[in-house]
Amino acid sequence: MSSKTCATTLRDPAELVAHGLARAEDLADLEKVASRYAIAVTPDIAALIDVDDPNDPIARQFIPTPAELSSRPGEHADPIGDHAYSPVAGIVHRYPDRVLFKLVHVCAVYCRFCFRREMVGPGKDSALSDAAYGRALDYIRNHREIWEVILTGGDPLMLSPRRLSEIMVDLAAIDHVKIIRMHTRVPVADPSRVSPDLVAALKVPGATCWVALHANHARELTGEVRAACARLIDAGIPMVSQSVLLRGVNDHAAALEDLMRAFVECRIKPYYLHHGDLAPGTAHLRTTLARGQELMRALRGRVSGLCQPDYVLDIPGGAGKSPVGPNYLLPQSSVGGEYDAQDEREAGQETRYRVTDYCGDVHLYPPKP
Ligand code: SF4
Repeated sequence: MSSKTCATTLRDPAELVAHGLARAEDLADLEKVASRYAIAVTPDIAALIDVDDPNDPIARQFIPTPAELSSRPGEHADPIGDHAYSPVAGIVHRYPDRVLFKLVHVCAVYCRFCFRREMVGPGKDSALSDAAYGRALDYIRNHREIWEVILTGGDPLMLSPRRLSEIMVDLAAIDHVKIIRMHTRVPVADPSRVSPDLVAALKVPGATCWVALHANHARELTGEVRAACARLIDAGIPMVSQSVLLRGVNDHAAALEDLMRAFVECRIKPYYLHHGDLAPGTAHLRTTLARGQELMRALRGRVSGLCQPDYVLDIPGGAGKSPVGPNYLLPQSSVGGEYDAQDEREAGQETRYRVTDYCGDVHLYPPKP
């Protein structure tokens, strides 16, 4: 059974309780959570939640719990090191050819596992002032190596179509900026916001816009969400996905398979499966890296390459993303057991490898003659 329908976004614990989305006995703790981390559950998301299921995978992503009050060693307010790589307000320049451009600090919904949970939401940093926006643009202009600008934050599709259009024009006017990427939850959280005006705003001469959709469970891709994505893609805007591996949401092979198939059916190429970042109060939603690797191995056996995301870890402190999926290739010499260097020399290769197929069977490459 879904929750009581709501006409507006739910933003405080008492409203969640009134709509059957949180337990009255948790209210005092949830008020403490709300004083630290933003809450927002849009009508579209509320309608997806089965209130009779205490483990509902949609509720786990958006409904706060008292577990958020417990921080673990290693968790950090800035888990992926944005601040250390921010040369001017609004810009994170971690890799040579691209920057994050954080224009807004609000989102349509607030994910309970958000890695920027200490930075997003009402009352956190406000949007960039005009002067700060100008300085960020100057930074991009003065760094000719920047080929791609990734609008994130906050959710850039919370901006009005008019403001988005101005920003797109400003960025596309910079010769070396060829790609403008939007990281967004809006098509899932509030699909009606993907209006013809918003779609038109993303199309600008001089640069190509890509949209990366954040979704973590196949049930998020409702008919309305699929239609919103189709409006973008039919307008010529390519889409990729990003998901977070979350305990109790998508940490089993069937859930991941359904999610990746749903993306591909929507013409969205699975791009990233993020390992959960060490954000404060999110331990109850994280899995282990070993479990993530096991799931990626299972996914490889269940769906085609079209449905395979890269499983990645953002290294704490800001050193960037690393692929952390299972390794299918090991030098034969590293495995022990029967190993014949003479064979390798005869094969004219520096080494011989053991390669694992999708069933888990191991083969030698090159094969022994
Ligand atoms: S939409 Fe993105 S930035 Fe906003 S709360 Fe969710 S994960 Fe964080």
